[in-house]
Amino acid sequence: MKSGKYKFSLIPFGDIANTHQMILQDHQRYMAMAITQASIALEKNEVPVGAIIVHDDMVIGKGHNQVETLKDATAHAEMIALTAAMEHRNQKYLQGCTIYVTLEPCPMCAGALVWSKIDRIVFGAMDAKAGGCGSLFNISANKQLNHQIEIIQGVLEEDAKWLLKQFFAEKRN
Ligand SMILES: [Zn+2]
Repeated sequence: MKSGKYKFSLIPFGDIANTHQMILQDHQRYMAMAITQASIALEKNEVPVGAIIVHDDMVIGKGHNQVETLKDATAHAEMIALTAAMEHRNQKYLQGCTIYVTLEPCPMCAGALVWSKIDRIVFGAMDAKAGGCGSLFNISANKQLNHQIEIIQGVLEEDAKWLLKQFFAEKRN
């Protein structure tokens, strides 16, 4: 699996460390936007998952889970963000783009992301029960498909998990 958390503190060289620090800050900044999207879902009593798609340092698509609102089992945050980004670019492919999503994409979304030819998936929390990017399946790295996606995981993981815990705690009460 082509993934792993960044370990910037281990890089001793000033310039390289600064470059990596900037990348980490960018990842966190965009993930914070994805978390804002997830909070919108939580307010609507949806499973709190949010996504942002970035191209050339610009947000070109965003989405939050709307399965209940739209009565559509496929209305995951990533699917909504993908459609928005493709509409924005007026293109069916998203080469050069990165999706930031608070939870590991499911098999459907991982498949859709492969179809989109997106460069990179940055996600927060892993989804051991339904993840399609390394947990249950590893669709994003499957060499039998015609596109593989770079994975970076664990960015603002605790924030993403906290929202999910809030949601499931409320459901139980
Ligand atoms: Zn999904």
